[in-house]
Amino acid sequence: MEKVYDVHVHYTFDIPLKEKIEIFKDEFSQTKTEKFCFLSLPHHASKGGVLFDCCQNVSGLFLKKTFSPNAYAFAGLEHPENHLDSEKVARDFLTQAKTYLSVGFDGIKMLEGYPSLVKNWNLGVDDKVYDEFYSFMEKNGYPVLMHVANPTQNWDLKNASAQAIKDGRVYDSSYPTKSSLINQVFNVLKKFPNLKLTLAHFGFLSDDVEKAESFLSYPNTTFDLTPGGEQLINMGKNWESWLKLWQKYSDRILYGTDFYAFPKDEKWQENFLRRPNFVRQFIETNGEFDYVDGRFRGVFLDANLREKIYRENFVKLLDKPKEISTDYLKKTAEELLTRSNKEKEKDDLNYVLNNL
Ligand SMILES: [Zn+2]
Repeated sequence: MEKVYDVHVHYTFDIPLKEKIEIFKDEFSQTKTEKFCFLSLPHHASKGGVLFDCCQNVSGLFLKKTFSPNAYAFAGLEHPENHLDSEKVARDFLTQAKTYLSVGFDGIKMLEGYPSLVKNWNLGVDDKVYDEFYSFMEKNGYPVLMHVANPTQNWDLKNASAQAIKDGRVYDSSYPTKSSLINQVFNVLKKFPNLKLTLAHFGFLSDDVEKAESFLSYPNTTFDLTPGGEQLINMGKNWESWLKLWQKYSDRILYGTDFYAFPKDEKWQENFLRRPNFVRQFIETNGEFDYVDGRFRGVFLDANLREKIYRENFVKLLDKPKEISTDYLKKTAEELLTRSNKEKEKDDLNYVLNNL
């Protein structure tokens, strides 16, 4: 099996950190994932509002340390309860970014373009509250990996299943439209044209090759291939057009899978292999396969394209991992430990402190 470098790895399952590390080792080895980037997700929107995980950033940096020198980590911005004092929040985002990039994080992950977060915070990714942050990232050539919008069918109320609506995976008019979310990205690029910006899940643009190309017309923009909705299957249906784009911008597409340390239950193998296998079947074969509820045919990319997408572009974007400040990890874990009242968090933080 050919080795791959995965730019899109999460660690949000409720598993003790110590166990998570062992699971990752096993999963990385079985999928031949030799380098990887841990992406922090401190916030996510639920029905009750936005939830916050205070340990995401520190856990990500600790995972990077554990898997050094093959690992990278992107921090997530921690948001306040509200964004009313926008100047203060803008200053805080800038301070956070400066800190993260100086203590060993390699970039910033933004889930901030996720429809339910944009709605809950009433804050687009082009809001001026992010300007100083983007400007800092652009000036220093630090990468931002952003999730914006979602698959187009999530806005299709007519054809959505009752379950999807109930789960909040379908967006009615109380949510921003998909096109408004995509426009926000272009607004950011108009202000910060040299920003190193990666859109996850190919920007959910599999139905709009022209939009994808306008995004890539900026000098430092890239897409990751992380499955979602399903972009690759959609592209496969119009592969002639997409292949041209992939060839023209072959240095701007990154392998990524939404890799997780999955709980080691009877579905473990199936769960962690699903997405890497899908992306690899699509890229490495021309056979027919099933993925979730779709059937697809692989497009077989030659070794030169695979080299770029699987490995070269990752190294080009991330270069050498930034050096980790053990002192920062220690101080942050200690500080969080004094504030935390959840057993699971305390256990993880103690594990970090005992293994620095
Ligand atoms: Zn993700």
